[in-house]
Amino acid sequence: MTARPIIEVKGVHKSFGANTVLKDVSVQVEQGEVVVVIGPSGSGKSTLLRCLNGLEKPESGEIRIEDRSLLVAGAAITQIRSRMGMVFQQFNLFPHLNVLRNITLAPVQVRKLEPAKAEELAMSLLGKVGLSEKAGHYPASLSGGQAQRVAIARALAMEPHIMLFDEPTSALDPEMVGEVLAVMKELAAEGMTMVIVTHEMGFAREVGHRVLFMEQGMIVEEGTPQKLFDEPQQERTRAFLSKVL
Ligand code: ADP
Ligand code: MG
Repeated sequence: MTARPIIEVKGVHKSFGANTVLKDVSVQVEQGEVVVVIGPSGSGKSTLLRCLNGLEKPESGEIRIEDRSLLVAGAAITQIRSRMGMVFQQFNLFPHLNVLRNITLAPVQVRKLEPAKAEELAMSLLGKVGLSEKAGHYPASLSGGQAQRVAIARALAMEPHIMLFDEPTSALDPEMVGEVLAVMKELAAEGMTMVIVTHEMGFAREVGHRVLFMEQGMIVEEGTPQKLFDEPQQERTRAFLSKVL
C-alpha cells in the first residue's frame, strides 16, 4: 500500500465552451481499489476518465497520479500516461496488424522492449485473456468480445499501474459481455487499480469496492455498492437507479 492515494482529484473544473462538464469534482482512489462510475449519458463520466489520463486538461483543480501532478507534468506526462492503460467502448485495434503485433507494438516502440521479450509478454497476456490461438489472426476476424479482450491485453502489455475502462462492454452483443467482464474481474482479483465506467450494475455490485454516481458534472453520491444500490441517500441517485436496475 502506498501512503497516499494512487489517484487524487481535487476540485477539478472542465468546460467545453460554455458547457461546464465537470464541476468541482474531487475523488481519491487507493492502490488496488476498483471504483465504478455510473450515471446518465452526458454526465461527464468519459470526460473525467479522459482528464485522469491526460487526454483532456481541466481549467482548474489538481490531478495527482502516483503522487505526481498531471497538470504541471510537462514532459513527464508521457511517462505518467504510459503507466495507465485505457480501454474504450470501441476497441481501436490496428486493422493492418495481427493480434500479436497489436500487442507488441507499444512495448517495442515506447518501452523499448526487445521484440522477442515483447512477444513472450504478449503471448502470456493472450493466455490470460483466453485467446492464445488468435495470435496470428487479424482484428477483422475477431468477434467483438475477442477484440475487446485483445484491447485489454494490449493495454496490459504496457504493465500499467492503473487501468481505466470507459464502457468496455457497451458496444458488444449481449452474449459477449460476460467474457470481457470475466477478464476484468480477474484483473481486479489480482489487485489492479481500476476505474470503470459501466452500465453493468451486477458487475459493479460484485466487483466494485466503491461506486460513484455522477450527474451533470458532479459526483452526487458515492459509497460501497451495497450502500449505494440498496440505500441511496440522494433523490437523484434513487431516480437514476430506478431506471437502470
Ligand atoms: P458521459 O461519458 O457521462 O456520457 P461525457 O463526458 O462524454 O459524458 O460528456 C459530458 C458533456 O461534455 C456532454 O455534454 C458532451 O456533449 C460534452 N463533451 C464531451 N466531450 C466534448 C468535446 N470534446 N467537445 C465538446 N463537448 C464535449
Ligand atoms: Mg461516456
